[in-house]
Amino acid sequence: MRAGSLEFENRLTEFEARQSPEGLLKRYARQRLSFFWFRQIFVLGGAAVLFLTGHPLAGGVALLTLLLGDLLDCAYLAGVPRRLAAGAPVKRLYFVSTLTAAVQALTTVLLIGLPIALSGGAETLAFAFAFIAGGGINSSYLYSFHRAATLVRLAVLLASGVGVMAHAWLAGSVSPEGQLYGLFAFAMTLFLNYTFLQHSRRSIAHKTQSAHRLLEQSQKLALTNTMLHAHQSEMRRLALVAQNANDSVFVADPEGRILWVNAAFTRLTGYSAQEAVGQRPADLLNAPTTDPATSEAIRTAITQGRPLRSEILNARKDGSEVWVETNQVPVLDANGAVEMVIAVERDISAAKHHEEELARAKHSAEEGERAKAQFLATMSHEIRTPMNGIIGMADLLRDSGLAKEQRSYVETIRYSAEALMRIINDILDFSKLDAGKSVICPVDFELLPCVESALSILRPKALEKQIYVDLTCATPLPPLVRGDDGRIRQIILNIVGNAIKFTQQGGVTLDLSCTTSPEGHSLTLAVTDTGIGIPADRVDLIFDQFSQADGAITREFGGTGLGLTISRILAREMGGDIAIRSVLGEGSTFTITLKLAQALTPAPDEAQPREAGSADNVIKLPGVKALVAEDNLTNQLLMKSFLKSTEMDVIYARNGREAVRLARRHAPRVIFMDMSMPEMDGLSATRKIRADPSLVQPTIVALTANVYASDKAACLSAGMDGFLSKPLKRAELMGWLNQI
Ligand code: ADP
Repeated sequence: MRAGSLEFENRLTEFEARQSPEGLLKRYARQRLSFFWFRQIFVLGGAAVLFLTGHPLAGGVALLTLLLGDLLDCAYLAGVPRRLAAGAPVKRLYFVSTLTAAVQALTTVLLIGLPIALSGGAETLAFAFAFIAGGGINSSYLYSFHRAATLVRLAVLLASGVGVMAHAWLAGSVSPEGQLYGLFAFAMTLFLNYTFLQHSRRSIAHKTQSAHRLLEQSQKLALTNTMLHAHQSEMRRLALVAQNANDSVFVADPEGRILWVNAAFTRLTGYSAQEAVGQRPADLLNAPTTDPATSEAIRTAITQGRPLRSEILNARKDGSEVWVETNQVPVLDANGAVEMVIAVERDISAAKHHEEELARAKHSAEEGERAKAQFLATMSHEIRTPMNGIIGMADLLRDSGLAKEQRSYVETIRYSAEALMRIINDILDFSKLDAGKSVICPVDFELLPCVESALSILRPKALEKQIYVDLTCATPLPPLVRGDDGRIRQIILNIVGNAIKFTQQGGVTLDLSCTTSPEGHSLTLAVTDTGIGIPADRVDLIFDQFSQADGAITREFGGTGLGLTISRILAREMGGDIAIRSVLGEGSTFTITLKLAQALTPAPDEAQPREAGSADNVIKLPGVKALVAEDNLTNQLLMKSFLKSTEMDVIYARNGREAVRLARRHAPRVIFMDMSMPEMDGLSATRKIRADPSLVQPTIVALTANVYASDKAACLSAGMDGFLSKPLKRAELMGWLNQI
């Protein structure tokens, strides 16, 4: 590009130099010099005429004079380039060359005037005007190069013509007719000279313009050439890039037939350029398992001139399959029609395999998670059911009038079974929470009774240790709130249970306070004990799963190290947290904060669902029909003994189907429905009973070993009124019967 413009600039400079005053002067000098001998031929001819007409001396003088005049002019002009190069001013050279031209022109007067002065005939007029015409044409030719010299020459020639005519008229040597012819010849000479002058001027101007135009066109051509060259080298570079790219590239025509492929295409597919050109990619590369929809989408995008990025399964020449990511870009012509399509393809088989492996791993992880959840549910049920039997039977045994020693053995069985239940509950709870499952099942409930019921479970232990358990309320409490009362009770049992466990003297205080805003209630429970306290460096660790503050001391007290972990997760699930302040040897304060929602039901009495209250006194409902749907015979036995004192009319079903049938036949007031039963489970049986319009609807209470929020929610949505958790407790059962 630079070489082209340099060449053009040189030519332009050269052109401008030729058109400059200096250049024109040089060209004038050159022209005058090159036609010197040509002019002398005419001078010699004129002198020869004088010689032949009997005036040899005049001929010789004229020849010599004219020769000298021209020599003087040419001698000066020959030195012009040198003088210019030496820095002589152009104006001066121009002026001097005009003077030498005048001198040269004046010498010609001799040859024009001598014939008429010597002979005086009309024929000499013709000679004079012929000479003037020749001289004039010769001078006019260089008008465009040296205007002053040309005009001086023409003026001298014109003046000599006028002089010749004046002489002929004054001397009377020419007849009036001859004078008239002469005058006409002179006029013609002038016209001829004028015409030639104009012609010469125009032709030189035209030549100059043409040269300039040519130069301009050359410039455009040079520019176009340069651009073409740049374009070509870019094309070459791009072709080189495409050819050597690592990705497979092919170019196809608008019908989708391959026009060109690069080396990577051959490496990827196994097809050489000769084999690929002219083929449609789909015909060449589609595997039997290629998704026809993807193939069709690519074809449609190409014909519609749309770019497309897609993943497709291809087959190589050897039949092996390869996943490629194809990127098709149409190249459109000026009218927007597809001119060709460029496709860049990349082997993504490794990424695809990785993706498939990940999907498989995710699937099996989900499967594992499902299996784990199923296992937990089964475990929960399978462990609770026999535990229910152990605890229930121990209760019955305790109340069967045993001797003191025997009674203490039974108490130990019961205590151990309950301790085992707590551990199992903790582990199952933790597994569920650890898997990120929400266990919160919100219901409307009364706050104070909830807290008190938890404390009432713990008080006997405190009494045993002769330490106090106080409950204080710093603020008025809302009668009804919405949250998971079971989980709140679980937290209190854990924290206050720990406080009692780790306090030997003094006692435990639970300070309750609650603030209410339109968003809900913020509940704070501060549990302060005067127990052993926790070493400062262990405070942050005791929330870690299976972690205890001091192995030696806590070994004495037992525990799994899961209680606080679960309590904190539960508190956080309820939008709160648990914080600790503790001084070793002085005691600890566990502050539990919880967020509770506004209750949906206004009246506390109607709060649903009703969970078992406690009624230690025996309820008597003589003749009231109750249906117990329970497949496990131990549990049936337990229910039978619990309900015996109520004098109710109890019937038993061993599966859900039988429960529905007996409910239709006997229309019981209350049904205790086990959830897991053969043939038809408790949920389906409940739905069937609730859907039967012919039945007076009974109260249905679930008997469930499943303790998760999802199980509780399932019971409620199936139409049950509440639930009794296994292992069954007589007091809870009586609490329910108290409410029907
Ligand atoms: P554990 O079942 O062992 O009680 P927790 O998670 O409930 O499990 O408690 C973890 C540990 O935190 C306890 O073993 C004990 O070392 C410490 N801890 C909890 N509460 C108290 C407390 N009130 N006073 C002293 N130490 C406590």
